[in-house]
Amino acid sequence: METTRTIRRVKQVIQPRFVIEGADVLLQRSFGPSRANPVDPFLLFDHFAFNDPAEGPIRGFPTHPHRGIETVTYMLEGNVRHRDSIGNLGVIGPGDVQWMTSGRGILHEEMPQRGPQGVIYGFQLWVNLPAAQKMGRPRYQEVKAEGIPVVEAPGVRVRVVAGEYAGVRGPVTEIAARPLYLDAALEPGAELRVPVPAGHTAVAYLFEGEGEFGAGPGQPGEVAGAVRMILFEDGDELRARAAENSPARFMLIAGAPIREPIFPYGPFVMNTREEIEQALTDLRNGTFVQDEAPAGA
Ligand code: MN
Repeated sequence: METTRTIRRVKQVIQPRFVIEGADVLLQRSFGPSRANPVDPFLLFDHFAFNDPAEGPIRGFPTHPHRGIETVTYMLEGNVRHRDSIGNLGVIGPGDVQWMTSGRGILHEEMPQRGPQGVIYGFQLWVNLPAAQKMGRPRYQEVKAEGIPVVEAPGVRVRVVAGEYAGVRGPVTEIAARPLYLDAALEPGAELRVPVPAGHTAVAYLFEGEGEFGAGPGQPGEVAGAVRMILFEDGDELRARAAENSPARFMLIAGAPIREPIFPYGPFVMNTREEIEQALTDLRNGTFVQDEAPAGA
C-alpha cells in the first residue's frame, strides 16, 4: 500500500536584500534574527557573492564573538580563512562546510578570499540552539568537499551535508535542530522529491536558474527565478522541478523548530535580555571565552 504524502505548498517567496556586515562586506540577506522568530530554528541566511575584481580587496569579518547559536558556512567558490579562540585555524574551500556550534562563547575571524577566477560565493546559515545547549561547550564540525556524499539520479545531483536523502546520511551529525541540509542541482525539467518530517521548518534557497516549487497533483506550484528564498508550509514531502528551459540549483534546508522565546542581539541569540546583558558583561570582563583545556591536561 502506498502512503499518501502531503506535499508542502509555498508559503512565502523572499527576495534577499543587500546589507553590509563586518568590515564593509556586502551580503544578500534573506532573513535575520528577530524576536518573532518566523523561520525557527533558523535565524539568518546570508549569501556572499563577489565576482568583480573592481570591487577591490575583500576585508571580511575581523574578530567577533558568538554565543547561543550555530553558524554554518558553505562555500561554492573562493575560500574563507578562519581562526578562533579555541585554537582552530583553517580554510573553508569550495564544496566544504563548517558547522560551528558557539555554545557559551567563541571569538573568531572569518576572512573571505577570492578563488582563481576572482570569485567568492558561499552561504552562511545561523541555527538556533535550545536553552539547555546555549551555554554548552563550543565545537566544530568541518567537512572537506570530498567528505560530503553525492546522490545522483537522471537529471538530479544532490550533495548531502546533514540529514538523510535517498538513504544517504550527511557527515554533519548531532545537531539539536536535527537539520536537513542539501545542495541540489537539477537539469532542465528534472524533479526532486524529498521527504521532510511534518512539523519541521523547511526552506529552499534558489541561487541558480529557475524552477517550480510545491507543485503536486491538483496543486499548482510557485515558479521562481534565482535568487529567491522560498518558505514552505507544513507537510511531509518537498517537491521542486527545474524549468523546461533552465537548470535550477538550490539549497534545501529543514529542521525541527525549537519553540522557545529568543532575544537576539548582534552575534548573540539568547532567550532573555538578561542573558544578552550577561554576554556583554562577560565580554567586558574578559570571561566570555572559558578555558577550553581538555580535562586532565
Ligand atoms: Mn562569525
